[in-house]
Amino acid sequence: MINFEYARATDVADAIRQMAADPAAKFIAGGTNLIDLMKYDVERPMRLIDITHLPLKTVDETAGGGVRVGALVPNSDLAYHPLIEKRYPLLSSAILAGASQQLRNMASTGGNLLQRTRCFYFYDVATPCNKREPGSGCSAINGINRINAVLGTSESCIATHPSDMCVALAALEAKVHVAGAAGERTIAFDDFHRLPGDTPQLDNNLQPNEIITAIELPARGFADNYSYLKIRDRLSYAFALVSVAAALELDGGRIKEARLALGGVAHKPWRRPEAEAALRDQAVNSNAFAKAADILLGGAKGFAHNAFKIDLARRAIIRTLTQAANGTPQTQSSKKIR
Ligand SMILES: Cc1cc2nc3c(=O)[nH]c(=O)nc-3n(C[C@H](O)[C@H](O)[C@H](O)COP(=O)(O)OP(=O)(O)OC[C@H]3O[C@@H](n4cnc5c(N)ncnc54)[C@H](O)[C@@H]3O)c2cc1C
Ligand code: SF4
Repeated sequence: MINFEYARATDVADAIRQMAADPAAKFIAGGTNLIDLMKYDVERPMRLIDITHLPLKTVDETAGGGVRVGALVPNSDLAYHPLIEKRYPLLSSAILAGASQQLRNMASTGGNLLQRTRCFYFYDVATPCNKREPGSGCSAINGINRINAVLGTSESCIATHPSDMCVALAALEAKVHVAGAAGERTIAFDDFHRLPGDTPQLDNNLQPNEIITAIELPARGFADNYSYLKIRDRLSYAFALVSVAAALELDGGRIKEARLALGGVAHKPWRRPEAEAALRDQAVNSNAFAKAADILLGGAKGFAHNAFKIDLARRAIIRTLTQAANGTPQTQSSKKIR
């Protein structure tokens, strides 16, 4: 591990100022991803700017009927917050499907969005990886690619974004509030993460000196008909091979509104407006669900070890939509332990 300097930011303006003064610095929140990456020699920041003392730890209702979540709210506090459990149970469920209780106690809301891929080769500095070292090549395309992407891939990179929380945030159409030297701005969740294209080193559209300050959830929470299904190699403490966030608003036996997002299959939470449009105004039935699944998975391309994900995702989408429509969401095994 490299030597690095450590500094603590006193407020958001101070954090931005310190970052602008040192482009080789990195913010550190819970440290559950960044410290691992530093130990593996993947990230080499010369200075860590500790943001854990910034006043970004509250969950507040907004004037528009939504909820604003501070970037430093720990994942476990967010999952168990009464407002989130009651109004956005899809988000609680997705968070509790991730990591372990100890990790969720440390991991922050902002850090979860910025966690990096779990592609084996990204962590192995002895192998070429365009994301870690642009232009060096992609070891996963012809390597062990069981956990890699089947949608939105490029010739440069087939990594996935590993977050569970982000899949629910995508389905809920959250917004990301950021601040930087040029001021504050808001980014729609769908526009936050990027596809790899020929710049796989860029995971998202945050500018280098910007800090995430909050996530805003809109008023619509789909609290009655939702489900988050995560399929993984082990029942707990493993990243998704495929995950599905489904949210429906029903009117009798018909679908008024639908949201569908996939995790574990692409460089960002995967949504397609056409798949959701295909569900609107349809009767609740497995044919409609299968059609939406086919649209969402259109153009999927498997590699030597991960082609199974395409059929797995199709079946998972149908199952998750069925659970959502029946009001019988997938339960996560995590109990409330602090
Ligand atoms: C063993 C293990 C298993 C895991 N399993 C899962 C899982 O199943 N599902 C899942 O979703 N996640 C999982 N995780 C990932 C975990 O959720 C993330 O590591 C965590 O959410 C990152 O948050 P953090 O606060 O610790 O981020 P840090 O490690 O502190 O930071 C991560 C990155 O975000 C940047 N950063 C942090 N906060 C901000 C901010 N406010 N503004 C700008 N930049 C910021 C840092 O500079 C750094 O680049 C797992 C992690 C581990 C170690
Ligand atoms: S898939 Fe992306 S992260 Fe993995 S080796 Fe290829 S370039 Fe690196």
